[in-house]
Amino acid sequence: MVGAGLAGLHTARLLAQQGFDVLVVERRSRLSTGIRTTGIFVRRTLDDFDLPEEHLGPPIRRVLLYPPSLRSPIELVGPHDEYRVADMAAIYTHALARARQAGAQVLLGVPYTGIGFPARFVIGADGARSTVARRLGLDVNRRFLLGVEEVYPIARSVAPPTFHCVVDPRLAPGYLAWVVDDGCHAHVGLAGLPHRLKGPLPRLLRSYADAFPHRPLATGPLQSRGGLIPVGGLLRRIACPQGLLVGDAAGAVSPLTAGGLDPCLRLSALAASVTGEYLRSGDEMVLRRYDGAALRARFRYRLMLRAALSGIRSPTAAEAAFAMLRTAAGRTIAARLLFGDGSFPLAPGSYPATLERTAQ
Ligand SMILES: Cc1cc2nc3c(=O)[nH]c(=O)nc-3n(C[C@H](O)[C@H](O)[C@H](O)COP(=O)(O)OP(=O)(O)OC[C@H]3O[C@@H](n4cnc5c(N)ncnc54)[C@H](O)[C@@H]3O)c2cc1C
Repeated sequence: MVGAGLAGLHTARLLAQQGFDVLVVERRSRLSTGIRTTGIFVRRTLDDFDLPEEHLGPPIRRVLLYPPSLRSPIELVGPHDEYRVADMAAIYTHALARARQAGAQVLLGVPYTGIGFPARFVIGADGARSTVARRLGLDVNRRFLLGVEEVYPIARSVAPPTFHCVVDPRLAPGYLAWVVDDGCHAHVGLAGLPHRLKGPLPRLLRSYADAFPHRPLATGPLQSRGGLIPVGGLLRRIACPQGLLVGDAAGAVSPLTAGGLDPCLRLSALAASVTGEYLRSGDEMVLRRYDGAALRARFRYRLMLRAALSGIRSPTAAEAAFAMLRTAAGRTIAARLLFGDGSFPLAPGSYPATLERTAQ
């Protein structure tokens, strides 16, 4: 296994639990450094996966959507606890401990180059620009957002935990700028299509943080994070007899929301199930269950909406989109996207639904 992000650690644990010899190599020497994610987990993930409660922030139900003027945001309140922002350093540490407990050997500070790596089967959990994908001749990600954020401690406020999202193509072309304020921390960030970003990300982020009307920031940032987010949809060829890809390496990120934590956990469970069966039987037909092209077809709607979001190229177009969002139909669609039960599409029957809660 190459990479000890959430996808790698999760797949490693599930394979070790099946009795395989699993070796994970990770180039970071500490998992608490180099974090690239905000760490927002959505309700479906919280329901289906056993994440450690003590490392999850307070639930968020309220979303405010802002047009470029930052005036008159649209307020949407979910019927459930919709999001929780995790302490990702603690989540990785927890996942590392569980993978090791299950019997996986995890080596930190060891980069994979593809040379001198004797393994019967190599799993690429090595992120958006996967070396394993290239080494195995599998598909590679080609469409990305570039994201950056700062995490601030905040003074406790009386305002309900809120996810503020700004649609402004000058600031975040093809995506959003955000402030996630869960009452404990504020994550202030933005992401956009790299070729359309108007200036260096830190400068854009600074001007956004200064202009944002509900600045919950008490002191300087605790952390800065950033990275590439693959948004071209799940890759078609993600498995071959020598190995397979999971998580960002496989393009398993929602093309619309750019959420990758739920997809990486779901795809990891399928990867562990398929790998186990393949290694036990030696039957290459088993790998057909891990077919990116078939799973990708179910991303069609999200890919279409991604194209629509990328098509908003001026503040005037964004304000016009907001006029539609303010209608009853627009609000219903927005609420469905933000709070709906849609998640990473896996073919019926392909995902061992009980794997998570039973394999403790
Ligand atoms: C700014 C930002 C904010 C985001 N916020 C959210 C969010 O709030 N919610 C959400 O659902 N998704 C979010 N995402 C997306 C989500 O974080 C990713 O999809 C998810 O973390 C992918 O997990 P992964 O394990 O596949 O990859 P990663 O977490 O990238 O892990 C890959 C690991 O492989 C290691 N590695 C890479 N190459 C090698 C090598 N050659 N040898 C050894 N090790 C190697 C890396 O060091 C890394 O530890 C965000 C992304 C960004 C960039």
